[in-house]
Amino acid sequence: PKGLMWFRRDLRVDDNAALWRALRTCREVVCVFVFDKAILDSLPRADRRVEFIRESLVELDAELRALGGGLIVRHALAEDEIPELAHALDVQAVFANRDDEPAAIARDAKVFGALANAGITFHTAKDQVVFERDEVLTKVGQPYTVFTPYKRAWLAKLDDFFLKPYPSRGYAESLIAPPARYDAPVPALQDIGFEATNLSTLEIPTGAQGGATLFEDFFDRIDRYDAARNFPAVRGPSYLSVHLRFGTVSIRQLASVAHQLSLQGNAGAATWLSELIWRDFYFQILAHNPHLAEGKSFRPEYDKIIWHHGKHADMLFDAWCQGRTGYPLIDAAMAQINQSGYMHNRLRMVVASFLCKDLGLDWRRGEAYFALHLNDFELSSNNGGWQWASSSGCDAQPYFRIFNPVTQSERFDPEGKFIRRYLPQLASLSNKVIHAPWTASPVELEAAGLTLGEQYPKPIVDHAEARDRTLQRYGVVRKVA
Ligand code: FAD
Repeated sequence: PKGLMWFRRDLRVDDNAALWRALRTCREVVCVFVFDKAILDSLPRADRRVEFIRESLVELDAELRALGGGLIVRHALAEDEIPELAHALDVQAVFANRDDEPAAIARDAKVFGALANAGITFHTAKDQVVFERDEVLTKVGQPYTVFTPYKRAWLAKLDDFFLKPYPSRGYAESLIAPPARYDAPVPALQDIGFEATNLSTLEIPTGAQGGATLFEDFFDRIDRYDAARNFPAVRGPSYLSVHLRFGTVSIRQLASVAHQLSLQGNAGAATWLSELIWRDFYFQILAHNPHLAEGKSFRPEYDKIIWHHGKHADMLFDAWCQGRTGYPLIDAAMAQINQSGYMHNRLRMVVASFLCKDLGLDWRRGEAYFALHLNDFELSSNNGGWQWASSSGCDAQPYFRIFNPVTQSERFDPEGKFIRRYLPQLASLSNKVIHAPWTASPVELEAAGLTLGEQYPKPIVDHAEARDRTLQRYGVVRKVA
């Protein structure tokens, strides 16, 4: 039979479950990627993720061509385009890797229906995660909502079978080149209505080769991950999240290396594997709780909270977005996301807590801002992270635990290196006051050439007062619970 491989969030040839299955089952396989108007139309015209995808497709297309195939790239509504293309190419089956975001499930259901009407089958495979949906359940068959027992069960279930690579490349003889009328180079960004971003100046490597380079680099320091991962000024984490997001690395390969090292007693690798398990954890939470995609709190009683709203709240929100809160660690973190689309995990936790527990703003505003700006934006992890910080999520931070943005700064950026990188106007403050410039003496401020309220804002809230307001605001939860 003839098959169509539909690439989505799995932009690689190696160890790709659906591609492997297509190549094994079909004598001829054509490959396609659709820039889906249903997703793209709502994005700003300069979006690093669109550029990341585009650059990764150029590499994927070249790789497929070298193997005798090639990539058809369309800019259309995927739910219409895939059935039309399958029909025009006269294929008997379409293959794709599963995506459990509610919008993707709805899209795939439409595609499934349209294909079925035309007598074409639609096969999906697990590829994004090690364990999905109902694969890891409690003894009584319920989904886990607490991480630690989930992790224990995840590790207990793990064996070689689940990490075995799918050797797609070994079956490449089934790949066929796109027919002449669909055979065109990957469109330029402008051709799909987008502008270039600063992705290349940021030197964020794209494609499967970029993912492999980052992993090699991380592999050399994985044993230090444990010690380094909480310090944003240090190259501690892997920076692989955007590659996991778009499937330019294989989760099985990463988990397999981390697992092997961890069995050999490598503490850094064990901690890193835990982070990969958090990723699976949030995926299955979303799969079992699709209403999370509609802005609902995981714990319904938290939807009773009345957030600060109105003009003053809008002003606070703008200051948070633009990194003008007067708290240097918060502002440096927001500069990092605004300039690069990345934010260090520790900082994501701190700025998220600051938004809902210092500014009293609805976490959904922050969630939406991250969704727009993060290169690695992932509905399940982003929602999980925000609901963790706002205490409304599963296995979340208790509501009365409130990060102090100054002590977090003193602990995790003790020399203010990260702050100085993003807020050069504070560079000459001492290590002691850089975390809270309003505590500097007039002499020190003058020596640093700094007037608060001019080159750098005064704090927009008082943390101690905000803390009291938050405890009151969250009182409604206590009453209900
Ligand atoms: P590393 O430390 O190298 O971790 C390796 C991988 O493990 C990551 O790439 C990621 O896939 C996974 N991982 C690590 N921490 C977590 C976590 N807490 N939850 C789930 N997976 C994790 N991660 C996203 O991928 N997309 C998001 O949209 C996202 N939004 C977040 C929002 C908030 C408020 C918070 C607190 C966290 C969020 N995270 C998100 C999780 C985490 O911050 C990032 O995965 C991590 O910072 C990415 O950098 P890295 O690849 O260098 O991480």
